[in-house]
Amino acid sequence: MFLGEKSGKYPDGNQVVVRGADTLVAFDTPLVANRLGRELLDADLVILGHVHEDHMAGLHRLPRARVHVHEADVEAARSWEGMARHYGYGPQVLAGMRTMIEEKFHYVPRPDAQPYRDGAFWDLGGGVTVRAFHTPGHTRGHCALVVEPGGIAFIGDIDLSSFGPYYGDATSSLAQFRRTLAAVKDIPAKVWITSHHKGVITERATFLALLSAFAARLDAREAAIADYLRRQPATLAELVEHRFLYPKALDDLYYSDAERRTIEQHLEELAAAGRAVQEHGRWRMR
Ligand SMILES: [Zn+2]
Repeated sequence: MFLGEKSGKYPDGNQVVVRGADTLVAFDTPLVANRLGRELLDADLVILGHVHEDHMAGLHRLPRARVHVHEADVEAARSWEGMARHYGYGPQVLAGMRTMIEEKFHYVPRPDAQPYRDGAFWDLGGGVTVRAFHTPGHTRGHCALVVEPGGIAFIGDIDLSSFGPYYGDATSSLAQFRRTLAAVKDIPAKVWITSHHKGVITERATFLALLSAFAARLDAREAAIADYLRRQPATLAELVEHRFLYPKALDDLYYSDAERRTIEQHLEELAAAGRAVQEHGRWRMR
């Protein structure tokens, strides 16, 4: 594993490469991939755990490597149009995103990307294998990639960060993320590697503690939204303006759109549970 800057804090990430007797595989290609030599450039295959700009930032250096992506994310890897639907932001934000990811993330689409499914299995030779476990939520096609021998699970953007889960894109899903956070415990693994921040975790107890703190961010966000609505009924736009994910002092192109998608999903959950209701465009707690 090659640690990105600041332990792979976004915009960078951690690069995992796996060498079998016949095949060298890269899991994703974060920005740090741009600083690597043959250890990356000899890769025959890139398996993307999911599609986002920060996981494709070294693909331009591997034009001849095969690229495999879960079938639910593959269109996002194949074209800008697919990527734009994947993000699902407004047209102006998307236009800005395209320029930004081309400049900062060396973004190039991969029309040759091939789909894989849950349970996909790669034999790299010499007894080294990789298996995909579909773990949707962050994106619809997000997967954990488990290497044997060793039970090493690359869990990507189930990144166990203090920020918590990100489900602010069109194909993200809060409901799926909740199921994934429960299911990821059962993936047979002894070592866990995240794309950002945490890097390598070698103790199951540490992994479970970090996972539980990560999952608790969902409840903290829900509680913050519910508290706000108890004080004052609000429109979705007002909630987005208030911000529940990103500090007000910071701004990035996509923050408002990601806030909207995130808050909307919490409101849907609260409504489905009979706890919140929308009247004349304003949300309030019941
Ligand atoms: Zn991501």
